[in-house]
Amino acid sequence: MVDLKGQYHKIKDEVDNAILDVVASSAFINGPQVKSFQANLEKYLDVKHVIPCANGTDALQIAMMGLGLEQGDEVITADFTFAATVEVIGLLKLTPVLVDVEKDTFNIDIEALKKAITPKTKAIVPVHLFGQCANMEAILEIAKEHNLFVIEDTAQAIGADYTFSDGTTKKAGTIGHVGTTSFFPSKNLGCYGDGGAIFTNDDELAHILRGMVNHGMYKRYYHDVIGVNSRLDTIQAAILDIKLPHLDSYCDARRDAAKYYNEAFKSSDKIAIPKMANGCERICDDCTCHVFHQYTLRLKGVDRNALHQHLLDHGIANAIYYPVPLHKQKAYADERYIEDNFKVTNELVDTVISLPMHTEFEEEQLQNITQTVLNFIEE
Ligand SMILES: *Cc1c(COP(=O)(O)O)cnc(C)c1O
Repeated sequence: MVDLKGQYHKIKDEVDNAILDVVASSAFINGPQVKSFQANLEKYLDVKHVIPCANGTDALQIAMMGLGLEQGDEVITADFTFAATVEVIGLLKLTPVLVDVEKDTFNIDIEALKKAITPKTKAIVPVHLFGQCANMEAILEIAKEHNLFVIEDTAQAIGADYTFSDGTTKKAGTIGHVGTTSFFPSKNLGCYGDGGAIFTNDDELAHILRGMVNHGMYKRYYHDVIGVNSRLDTIQAAILDIKLPHLDSYCDARRDAAKYYNEAFKSSDKIAIPKMANGCERICDDCTCHVFHQYTLRLKGVDRNALHQHLLDHGIANAIYYPVPLHKQKAYADERYIEDNFKVTNELVDTVISLPMHTEFEEEQLQNITQTVLNFIEE
């Protein structure tokens, strides 16, 4: 699905030297590279505060702790996503409220979101799935009306731009009260292990979060609140600092691959190509609203599992993101959920398929992938 080796090879000398520098300095925890990466990411995202941490799941958990969410508070998020989002809601003894998504963008459905709000609702966690922002304009409006926090799960969309209807843009993750991301190796900005970060423009919240990632310490050995131990280690920060200047070109390479796929599939009536939302009707040359963490198709009248196997048989990686709606997972099932409210997710889990997506394609590979898909579909 990804080609991490090819990408490493192009920056090998720089990365190797940076790792050796950290080892030589032995500043493995909170070395100067962590501060440097933090500052560079703040600049890139145009956000006041980046708080690095150990992974994207911790980032979500710490964001929720920092906002003071408490047992019984309801947190609304999408049913069609990776489990990390709902996992931390559960761990903190908050009440997860899963809602359906839009069929064509895979992101949280605004009408379903509105219906799910109760007097206990305290926060919304839009997940910018597969690399494109949820409908943030509508979400901010709802949040304002009901006095809710907005926590953007930006694990899959770092680098994506969101365009408001007045034409202004903001980076994904910097639009709500707080944003979180992951630097897991296969993410768009991946390190060589685990890593994550929290973003916010709120000075007070940033201060709270900086202590929370470090055992609730605001002064050494004085613990004001219950925190966690969640750090981005220096080696990972050094690698990320080298990769960050390449992030835009990595996103461009992904968009180029997506364009190739789109061209190949757009005339098939059995395939729905990814929809560009938020005013972007198509992938234009200067459009940066989708960073294609995944390239995910919806199939119509095609045996998805058979295609999945057919591609594997032909040596083509592919994946089902995601095969089970969260509301049907053993850990998160709840009698409160009514099947009728999850029509789209229930359909997507049977009809989506994600094709290889990374920064290192040769045209030949894309040609082989698209031709193998089309051969099966047109059989
Ligand atoms: C990857 C991912 C996470 C979790 O990130 P980790 O760094 O693996 O903990 C959270 N949310 C979404 C949507 C993700 O894709």
